[in-house]
Amino acid sequence: MSRADKIAKMATRTAGQAKEAATISKKRTRAKNGVSFESHKHCVICSIPIAISNEPAICDNNDCHVNQKRKEASRKKLTFMLYAGVAIFLVPLILTFAGALS
Ligand SMILES: [Zn+2]
Repeated sequence: MSRADKIAKMATRTAGQAKEAATISKKRTRAKNGVSFESHKHCVICSIPIAISNEPAICDNNDCHVNQKRKEASRKKLTFMLYAGVAIFLVPLILTFAGALS
C-alpha cells in the first residue's frame, strides 16, 4: 500500500513538473512572438530592455545613471593612466635618443 502510494506520489510530481515545464516553454514562445522582440537594446547596468535610441545605453533608473557616471569616470581615469604610463616610459627613451644624436 505504502509503495503504491509512493509511486502515485512520484507520478503526480512528475506530471506537475511536466506541466510547469510546458508553461515555461509556452511563456518563452509567447515572448519570442510578442512585442518584446522588436529591435531594442539593453541597459548596460541592469540589462533591462530599453529603446534603441537611448544614448548612452542606460535606462531611466537613477541608480543606473549614477553607476554609469562612476563607470565612465573610472574608464577615463584608466585611459589617462595608460597614456601617462606610456609617456613615462617613452620620455626617457626619447631623451636618450636626442642625447645620442647631438
Ligand atoms: Zn538600468
